[in-house]
Amino acid sequence: RFSTAAVIEEPITPPVQINCTQLLINGQFVDSASGKTFPTLDPRTGEVIAHVAEGDAEDINRAVSAARKAFDEGPWPRMTAYDRARILLRFADLVEKHSDELAALETWNNGKPYEQAAKSELPLFIRLFHYYAGWADKIHGLTVPADGPYHVQTLHEPIGVAGQIIPWNFPLVMFAWKVGPALACGNTIVLKTAEQTPLTALYVAKLFHEAGLPPGVLNIVSGFGPTAGAALASHMDVDKLAFTGSTDTGKIVLELAARSNLKPVTLELGGKSPFIVCEDADVDKAAELAHFALFFNQGQCCCAGSRTFVHERVYDEFLEKAKARAMRRVVGDPFKKGVEQGPQIDSEQFEKVLSYIKYGIESNAKLECGGGRLGSKGFYIQPTVFSNVQDDMLIAKDEIFGPVQSILKFKDLDEVIKRANATRYGLAAGVFTKNINTANTMSRALRAGTVWINCFDVFDAAIPFGGYKMSGIGREKGIYSLHNYLQVKAVITPLKNPAW
Ligand code: NAD
Repeated sequence: RFSTAAVIEEPITPPVQINCTQLLINGQFVDSASGKTFPTLDPRTGEVIAHVAEGDAEDINRAVSAARKAFDEGPWPRMTAYDRARILLRFADLVEKHSDELAALETWNNGKPYEQAAKSELPLFIRLFHYYAGWADKIHGLTVPADGPYHVQTLHEPIGVAGQIIPWNFPLVMFAWKVGPALACGNTIVLKTAEQTPLTALYVAKLFHEAGLPPGVLNIVSGFGPTAGAALASHMDVDKLAFTGSTDTGKIVLELAARSNLKPVTLELGGKSPFIVCEDADVDKAAELAHFALFFNQGQCCCAGSRTFVHERVYDEFLEKAKARAMRRVVGDPFKKGVEQGPQIDSEQFEKVLSYIKYGIESNAKLECGGGRLGSKGFYIQPTVFSNVQDDMLIAKDEIFGPVQSILKFKDLDEVIKRANATRYGLAAGVFTKNINTANTMSRALRAGTVWINCFDVFDAAIPFGGYKMSGIGREKGIYSLHNYLQVKAVITPLKNPAW
């Protein structure tokens, strides 16, 4: 029996008003060129929250022109780096002031627990802007000791107009990962939000202009992938593309970028991350952390620990604890205090997750708990645990992106390293052990962009994040993200008097 008490048929009224539903182009909120709108939904009920302007290729053209003009002629790349930093800091202050409304809007549009949005994602958002504001006036080139009578220096220049496409699972955090470094470096932006979650980006973009951001520097186009997203990826006047989403779409946008103007592309894509519980692990802690690693954000994390490998000596004990923890998980209206899990984002993801659960049952994995929907409306799914999962089962290979934990048994470290790496993905990995040698061996052997030892989902502004293999190209956050938004120019001048 689940802790379903909080699943309610009468959803709590969100404590926030919706003010911004138009596109933001050149500092103005405007309708789409076609006049079309699309409904954005409340995942708790599937009902319409608001109708939002639907941008397509023509709106992308308008937004790119505005960003181009702001880059080529506007003050943003020309003002002092310190002045840019001050605008980023003022913006962060305004977001802090409006954190409660923003967290409520994020929950309303996405379904994530309000406490998670308010206590963890908004503070991270603010921290990211503080972090990148700090970088703005510390970006500089080198003098290069070249052979011959030359003075050689490198200039680190903004790359130009950045096109950015973000997903729905962390709408604000993804905004910050993309916009923070691009603006700190002096670029201008056209950002396309995910069609499921357009609202919070528009809200914060309004705050950015209150903070003094010049018009055209940040343009937001709400709309769909094959129309607005594809137009941005293939635009001839976009100098760089940054994308987060599925691996399949990542391939499409990379191709569009190559076929148009060969703009450089960074990709943050899917994952099937191993979470490895070694025989010496504290099983209570490991079960709790493995639970968090998978179920956090309704299981809708690109780096979710979605293959839980457990050493055979602790397997039975771990399984009991993992199952008990999943059954205690509090699922319900994400606005209700104490709720750990809200609804999935939309009917498409909801159906996809349920169909993977069906595959799991049909392939003879053992369903330990869950396996169905929760409540009668909205997109709630029972926390689900499968044991006896084998590497070749679909649930062990594909990204499910939902609250479905797959537990696999292993015998020794060499074996689990091979199995953990036997995936097309390489985004993250978790290792639970008390042995420093095991931790060191595993962190070197696992082919993933992040390895968390005895922790998981630690996201600091300074820590780089990104994937090996088909989990992506490039890194975001930290100093690494700055490289995505800079051109390096070598300047060579003959020396009149080489002796000096
Ligand atoms: P998706 O790839 O369909 O959508 C992501 C974004 O791409 C959206 O804004 C969408 O409108 C846009 N898009 C879709 N088709 C497009 C096209 N043809 N051209 C241009 N843009 C297009 O992904 P989804 O299924 O909505 O989101 C879940 C996926 O995102 C998961 O697979 C997850 O792993 C991945 N994801 C990865 C990360 C990461 O950091 N690596 C973070 C979040 C989500």
